[in-house]
Amino acid sequence: MKIICVGRNYKNHTEELGHEIPETPVIFLKPETAKLHKRFPFRIPPFSDQIHHEVEVLVKINRIGKYIDEKYAHKYYREIGLGIDFTARDLQQSLKEKGLPWEKAKGFDGSAMIGSFYDKKEFPDVNNIEFELAKNGATIQEGNTSKMIWSIDALIAEISKYFTLKIGDIIFTGTPAGVGIIAENDLLEGYLEEKKAFMVKIK
Ligand code: MG
Repeated sequence: MKIICVGRNYKNHTEELGHEIPETPVIFLKPETAKLHKRFPFRIPPFSDQIHHEVEVLVKINRIGKYIDEKYAHKYYREIGLGIDFTARDLQQSLKEKGLPWEKAKGFDGSAMIGSFYDKKEFPDVNNIEFELAKNGATIQEGNTSKMIWSIDALIAEISKYFTLKIGDIIFTGTPAGVGIIAENDLLEGYLEEKKAFMVKIK
């Protein structure tokens, strides 16, 4: 399986990092080894002093596809989940300044926290799902898929132009505003509507 991530898909987050709204989605990959099971703690890696949380809605692909038309994209996923794109922001910044690839800052072991998935039928409209991240009991990020610049179906169409989508692939659809640093002993909890999709302890 592969993990495909979308960057700058919420206007308010794009602005908080001081970026322009891109003309096409920013897409990058994380390797399979980046996967962090929802019951495991996240360990702050030794190469970063600034690990940021980015809560994101996840889409699990259930059908192989290439050049998928946006109007058929809904046939390629059945489940929606929630996870965290853990980012070594300090390292990402220094790599970006040098014009180098981001992989070390975005694809390191444990950087893709994957919470629970739910049948999309449990949500009346996939383009209007609320989600939230709480740190130590206080809400720190809130989003709604209606605020995405590119909808889930538009992302599937765009991603599949470049990468064949396969069964089990997971798309991280981008984070809303409110990203910030995590520290040892923090407890992160994610909610997709009223469903608790994950709980992760920081070590
Ligand atoms: Mg992200």
